[in-house]
Amino acid sequence: MLGTGAPLADYIQLSCIHPLKAGDENYAISVVIPCNAPGVRIHSRRSYAEGVPSVFDYPLSTRFDESDAILVYDDVFVPWEHVFVYKDLALTRASFFETAAHVLGNNQAQIRFAVKMKFLTGLARSVAETTGSIAIPAVQSALGDVAALAALVEGLVLAQEAHCTIDADGVARPGLQELYAQMVLQPEIHNRMIALVRELVGGGVIQVPSSIEDFANPAAWADIERYIQSPGSPARDRVKLFKLVWDAIGSEFAGRHAQYEMFYAGAPFVTKGHIYRHYDFDGAKALVAHALAGYDENGVVTKREPATV
Ligand SMILES: Cc1cc2nc3c(=O)[nH]c(=O)nc-3n(C[C@H](O)[C@H](O)[C@H](O)COP(=O)(O)OP(=O)(O)OC[C@H]3O[C@@H](n4cnc5c(N)ncnc54)[C@H](O)[C@@H]3O)c2cc1C
Repeated sequence: MLGTGAPLADYIQLSCIHPLKAGDENYAISVVIPCNAPGVRIHSRRSYAEGVPSVFDYPLSTRFDESDAILVYDDVFVPWEHVFVYKDLALTRASFFETAAHVLGNNQAQIRFAVKMKFLTGLARSVAETTGSIAIPAVQSALGDVAALAALVEGLVLAQEAHCTIDADGVARPGLQELYAQMVLQPEIHNRMIALVRELVGGGVIQVPSSIEDFANPAAWADIERYIQSPGSPARDRVKLFKLVWDAIGSEFAGRHAQYEMFYAGAPFVTKGHIYRHYDFDGAKALVAHALAGYDENGVVTKREPATV
């Protein structure tokens, strides 16, 4: 339905990660198609770099918009050497879930997410230092919330590495519980993070000149320099920081990121299905059985093995 980065690609792999059933064989394929093959049409959304005044005004939109597109394959010829799977339900599924493709793709995405969370934390802290609000205990507490989210995400990535297993092909697969837990929690964590940063930065992200060109206008610059400044932070630095913050949390580029974090790994009911299948419910139930075995109608049972976790 959407191909992120498609307009920038040379080749695109076309397959189906959704569960398929008997009768769906026409969708049970995996092929790779050059983007300039006859019959391929790529309909991109509008670029968020379009129409913005400068890199200084929209530093992320102008340089990091990876683009998304609808892909249409209209009677495209695919040579057999570009076909990995052909009308095979089990093999299509295996190509994602028996190989490490699905887990490694998502592990990479979560490393990316951990860096993004750290970056957002850095923005929040930089704004608090710029405005001086860092001295207020309530602001420090809110920054604690922000830091906790960033640390949690980084911790889940590190735990995936610590709990990795080596498969029969010698490929290190990240710890599944932590991987799938993060996939479920990611939309919630991202939305919460953005809300916290918005609260911390206040209206300063809106109180900015319309473009860098205002700096060159002597009358406008005199006001900007005088009124849009913070103690220890001249107007030029403050405007630069606040414009970067806005592009990370509030611009159209940022809005697309919010949607991306909610959906790129699949809708919530899909990601919850993964952790449902892979969480150590047996271990959890063993703890409950141990607790239940610790007492009966005659009181506490004293002689028994300790619980194993
Ligand atoms: C910015 C962005 C980039 C993307 N890039 C790519 C990409 O590069 N490649 C790619 O393949 N896909 C990509 N996607 C698509 C992504 O995989 C889908 O958005 C995702 O799988 C959800 O599907 P959907 O958008 O059709 O939403 P829907 O499936 O219609 O879901 C919409 C809402 O309805 C709910 N819902 C729907 N069906 C059920 C159900 N059976 N039970 C319970 N709730 C249900 C969902 O939970 C959700 O809240 C991208 C999406 C976004 C937003």
